[in-house]
Amino acid sequence: MATPARRPAIVAVDDEPAVLAAVSRDLRRRFGEDYRILRAASGAEALETLTELRTRGDQVALLIADQRMPGMAGTEYLVEARKIVPDAKRVLLTAYADTEAAIAAINEVALDYYLLKPWDPPEEQLYPVLEDLLETWSAGAAIEAGGVRVVGHRFSKDSHELRDFLARNRVPARFMDVEREGEARELLTVAGVGSDRLPVALLEDGSVLERPTVLELAERLGIAGAPAADHYDLVIVGGGPAGLAAAVYGASEGLRTVLVEREATGGQAGQSSRIENYLGFPAGLSGSDLARRATDQARRLGAELLTIRDAAALRVEGSGRIVELSGGGELSASCVLVASGVSYRQLETPGFPDLTGAGIYYGAAMTEARSCADQHVVVIGGANSAGQAAVYFSSYARRVTMLVRRTLEDSMSHYLIEQIAALPNVDVRTGTTAVSASGDGRLAGLRIRGPQGEEDLEVDACFVFIGAAPRTDWLRDVVARDERGFILAGLDAKAAGWQLPRDPYLLETTVPGVFVAGDVRARSIKRVASAVGEGSMSVSLVHQYLVDG
Ligand SMILES: Cc1cc2nc3c(=O)[nH]c(=O)nc-3n(C[C@H](O)[C@H](O)[C@H](O)COP(=O)(O)OP(=O)(O)OC[C@H]3O[C@@H](n4cnc5c(N)ncnc54)[C@H](O)[C@@H]3O)c2cc1C
Repeated sequence: MATPARRPAIVAVDDEPAVLAAVSRDLRRRFGEDYRILRAASGAEALETLTELRTRGDQVALLIADQRMPGMAGTEYLVEARKIVPDAKRVLLTAYADTEAAIAAINEVALDYYLLKPWDPPEEQLYPVLEDLLETWSAGAAIEAGGVRVVGHRFSKDSHELRDFLARNRVPARFMDVEREGEARELLTVAGVGSDRLPVALLEDGSVLERPTVLELAERLGIAGAPAADHYDLVIVGGGPAGLAAAVYGASEGLRTVLVEREATGGQAGQSSRIENYLGFPAGLSGSDLARRATDQARRLGAELLTIRDAAALRVEGSGRIVELSGGGELSASCVLVASGVSYRQLETPGFPDLTGAGIYYGAAMTEARSCADQHVVVIGGANSAGQAAVYFSSYARRVTMLVRRTLEDSMSHYLIEQIAALPNVDVRTGTTAVSASGDGRLAGLRIRGPQGEEDLEVDACFVFIGAAPRTDWLRDVVARDERGFILAGLDAKAAGWQLPRDPYLLETTVPGVFVAGDVRARSIKRVASAVGEGSMSVSLVHQYLVDG
């Protein structure tokens, strides 16, 4: 935590002096040691306070506002406040009669929670909710506050890969742009590193890694571990929602469980800026938050996690199932769960392959959001993932243009279409595609083709969401797949070369004891909840297999 004068702020706003005094008192009692509790009697006054805090570079962790205020309602204030401090958590205080308004505001304000007045006793009604929100906020703030420093060029592919890896693995790290920050150049001089050796990672123990690969950095940070056991009951390949759910249930039910993840836990869901349809989170939750919680939960229950390791092949040796890892080494198990999901398809359009990582990104690349301030961002795609990204970047960028091949109604959920329509800085171009990308070492422009013909756009960053495909080539000739590479299970596996007299279990592949869950399964429903459901269900099938064969 920072020195007392720089403690992050919690800002409470209410026009009723008694309520404001009560909420400030309760906040101070529980959070006063770590946070400054600031109060304002109106939305306008609070916005001034936020602007001042922002100008001074102070952090704001949480905003609490009453809904019923004359002049500016709580939701109106939170919409404006979000533009000044987009990362602060937002809580609305409502009377029971205003519950409908609060629920409606969840999307408009990207509200994190609404609390009913009165909140007595605060130990039950107030503190648990706020503690949870502050913990989530501080996990994000810690990530930006320090730890590893990466010095590089903002639009270099190698720098982007390191930043993305650190952020997705939730390693506290700060990126320093050698072109824009004098401090970055000074650090390089002190470390004796030439500008041709970038990016450079400066670790907390003083070591300097010049142009490290992601694996080298992971090994130095102790993230890429070695397996602890010679044999496991269950090896899980893939640390998305399906794999994490299986790890949680497997470990909690006493199976010796290890999960192998090539990049960072969370999978596609970890890249989602806001998952709104996951049961039990009415205000939505960010993918990185879900990933952090699930990863902690799996570890706490005893699952072993090996990240930055790729499953490269699978072989059957009697009752053993052997997963070979890229870079050497293998894991022996009684059962394997393939939960390797899908990954983004890449655009082959001229200019795109060369500028990938240098202004063009696949997925939301949350690490880039901050550097999009005042910039023109293009989002390509018309499904929910593209819609979420457009909403997310609209809080940071000056302008967001969506390029949608057909119409939004074809492929996007209604609630997202409504959110996008309400955002003044998001422009949706339907019937439009990118024809080429241009730029000298970093993206500068896109040529697009739409109903009015071709046009050139000046663009600072482009995020592409054009569907996804499974990467299951490592299972070729071992496990049956459909023509698109999705893995067959259950009755589909039975029809595709199943050998035993018994039927395959519901999520079992053509290889007995090898199961599949989540997006990589043929006929799966591509949702977080279904991946979690299948991941947890697979564990009971593993038990059945271990007992009955
Ligand atoms: C931007 C975005 C927003 C989304 N929003 C929503 C939403 O709001 N609601 C919703 O329900 N769904 C949403 N989805 C879909 C949802 O995220 C997926 O359905 C879900 O993540 C699938 O989970 P999974 O575990 O099957 O696979 P994934 O999430 O794809 O995870 C698979 C993991 O396996 C790893 N892996 C792959 N191959 C290997 C290998 N050989 N060795 C080791 N590891 C490997 C990958 O690195 C990855 O981490 C969204 C998806 C995206 C991309």
